[in-house]
Amino acid sequence: MAAEEHEVLENYITQHNLKITKQRRAVLEAFLGSKEHLTAEELYKVVSAKEPKIGLATVYRTLALLTESGLAAELDFGDGHKRYEQNFEHSHHDHMICTQCGKIIEFHNSLIEKLQEDVAREHGFTMTTHKLDMFGICKDCR
Ligand SMILES: [Zn+2]
Ligand SMILES: [Zn+2]
Repeated sequence: MAAEEHEVLENYITQHNLKITKQRRAVLEAFLGSKEHLTAEELYKVVSAKEPKIGLATVYRTLALLTESGLAAELDFGDGHKRYEQNFEHSHHDHMICTQCGKIIEFHNSLIEKLQEDVAREHGFTMTTHKLDMFGICKDCR
């Protein structure tokens, strides 16, 4: 059980005078137990297997709450579907996206990370966060 994540969500919800509902908890559970980079529709399928009464709108709203509270990160790879991945105490990584099969590869390269900071510094810019998405063809599709 991801106790800390539950605490983050419950604190956020009470701070914003919202209600902690069974359905919101179920969305969080399913989100924490799912693979990365999933769409709201994919998460909805997982949650509705356990909570048949849940609606897609609730999943959308809860994902927004998870994003606002820092538990989820929203990703947009330009294919018309927003995707979500776990963000809480997860280490930074960038993405490669196959434009043929949609596969998403995570990577981390300390040289790229450092170069980005160097470039920012050269421009007198303090980088607080960044996203790097590489689009192309994966080795299975090539
Ligand atoms: Zn591919
Ligand atoms: Zn990722």
